Amino acid sequence: MELRITNLSKTYPNGKQALKHITLTIQNGMFGLLGQNGAGKSTLMRTIATLQDADTGSIFLDDIDVLNQPAEMRKVLGYLPQDFGVYPNVSAEEMLLYIAEMKGITHAAEKKESVETLLHRVNLYEVRHKKLSTYSGGMKQRFGIAQALLGEPRIVIVDEPTAGLDPLERNRFYNLLSEIGENTIVILSTHIVEDVSTLCNDMAIIGNGTVLQAGKPTDIETALDGCLWEKQIDKHLLGQYQQQFEVISNRFHAGKLIITVYQETMPDPGFWRKIPTLEDAYFKRLSQTTPQPV
Ligand code: ADP
Repeated sequence: MELRITNLSKTYPNGKQALKHITLTIQNGMFGLLGQNGAGKSTLMRTIATLQDADTGSIFLDDIDVLNQPAEMRKVLGYLPQDFGVYPNVSAEEMLLYIAEMKGITHAAEKKESVETLLHRVNLYEVRHKKLSTYSGGMKQRFGIAQALLGEPRIVIVDEPTAGLDPLERNRFYNLLSEIGENTIVILSTHIVEDVSTLCNDMAIIGNGTVLQAGKPTDIETALDGCLWEKQIDKHLLGQYQQQFEVISNRFHAGKLIITVYQETMPDPGFWRKIPTLEDAYFKRLSQTTPQPV
């Protein structure tokens, strides 16, 4: 399976250009779409999921022309939206049986079997008779994945799935996502770097409606090898360092401010070398597009 997005642009009626000539190729496996709030992730996800139109450009899933054959796309798509809306006062099992019917699984025994298998898979079988409205955030997300996986989709889109989950729930959700088959495209949209570094073998960073960088997380990290330096400084000197060097991020550690600088040579002897992480690569991209807070 291959998803090819070419030159996709979208401007909302209020004049906001949310997507600017997006071109991306996505293969089977977990693909992370990383970007800040407002970067255009949901607009892109919703367009791929045939829920809204683009102004120009094309999306092909193998030979399905997604923008012109939305019904064909929907047959092979599983979608977990950012906001699932109101959780109805019915049980997880009832809701999944209903959605299975909507997805065209009408044979009663087959429907029951796929729903039961999925309930086991997302670890909700024991609570399948409880009302969805009583589920915790993590349980709701796992239910969301179960409904997205009904009908064995070839492409699964999950929009900001771990926002609002506690660390334990997030871990469970990671395990679940990483079990989704190798023959499926899974697109994970998130503003959380850890989601991508833990799960994805391919990724793109998007900012202000454009693709800022695309590639494998490990390649994106190693591109910074030898060029990152850290130093502990007095917080009042931050502005001065920002003027003198390319400070890509700063953080407090045990009450002290530590800055990370991008430079091919050691900035001054007070710096020590830093092994790059995906977060550094992300901050470096963002620092080129948005001003750093002082
Ligand atoms: P993300 O998912 O990365 O947070 P979105 O795709 O939701 O980004 O939004 C991208 C930009 O488009 C933002 O500036 C947002 O305010 C704007 N936007 C999103 N949806 C609409 C809409 N329906 N009408 C107008 N502007 C919108």
